[in-house]
Amino acid sequence: MTKRIVLANPRGFCAGVDRAIQTVDTILRTAGPRADGLPPVYVRRQIVHNKHVVEQLAGRGAVFVEELNEIPDAAAEAGIPVVFSAHGVSPAVQREADARGLSIVDATCPLVGKVHREVLRFVREGYEIVYIGHNGHDEAVGVVGESPEHVHLIEHAADVDRLDFSESTKLVLLSQTTLSVDETADVIAALQRRFPWIELPPSSDICYATSNRQEAVKLVAQQADCMVIVGSANSSNSVRLMEVANEALGACGEAHRVDDAAEMDPAWFAGVSTVGVSSGASVPDELVAGVVERLQELGFTEVSTVETIQENMHFVLPKALRSV
Ligand code: SF4
Repeated sequence: MTKRIVLANPRGFCAGVDRAIQTVDTILRTAGPRADGLPPVYVRRQIVHNKHVVEQLAGRGAVFVEELNEIPDAAAEAGIPVVFSAHGVSPAVQREADARGLSIVDATCPLVGKVHREVLRFVREGYEIVYIGHNGHDEAVGVVGESPEHVHLIEHAADVDRLDFSESTKLVLLSQTTLSVDETADVIAALQRRFPWIELPPSSDICYATSNRQEAVKLVAQQADCMVIVGSANSSNSVRLMEVANEALGACGEAHRVDDAAEMDPAWFAGVSTVGVSSGASVPDELVAGVVERLQELGFTEVSTVETIQENMHFVLPKALRSV
């Protein structure tokens, strides 16, 4: 029996990740040599949640920091660009950057920026906001930071019980862009049971890339008895993709998340005839190619693709770089 690999499409880079990486790449390519020992660019937090991408950019000279206070004053004085990652920042971080005179290039994904603007609009209109997101995730921290007193973060349906609003409170629901569509539907149902007057945003905050990748994984799982999802452990959409794959496989098999082919355990594939493969929105396709190659070495020689939709989303570079 021929053992098969089924690739999910769409998979890998989304428009927001591509733009964020291009932002740092453009600065690195155009930076002249420096005699002062300062790097060509600082990046606050991981530009996207993928360790290979970060290591590659760091290898070319980008310096990654957790907080702006790690950036020396000399860098601010010299105008070294500081890039905000695709996940966005809270206004407190922006204020700190302004106060220090840092030269900011904001690579926040426009679809994350949209949720920030929704928070500001609904707060202006007197709403309390229930925000479904992952506590501590960079994106959630940035969004909640827009108005911590009016944004109430919950993660799961069980968290709805600890919310308490009277019927006279204007309530609206917003969410992180990289959640599981199905799990979020359960949380929304729980919210609507408890607060029937809660309003939904004009369009879902879960982004096109997240939902497209989850749909494709579900279809692939119908043909597979094991799945490999490429993506880092701190990548929300990659972890959600693995959960969606596991759910879709059910009793037929198991899904595994790996950063790269080196993390694959041959024991996962004993008795397996078809392995489904996909990757999160922050994952370069060469890492998927490595996984496919390793599977081929393990005897999975036939490769096919399940495509659900062709993506053509593209975001222009941040304003500060458009003339570069
Ligand atoms: S996953 Fe969605 S929201 Fe996040 S960077 Fe990609 S396009 Fe933007």
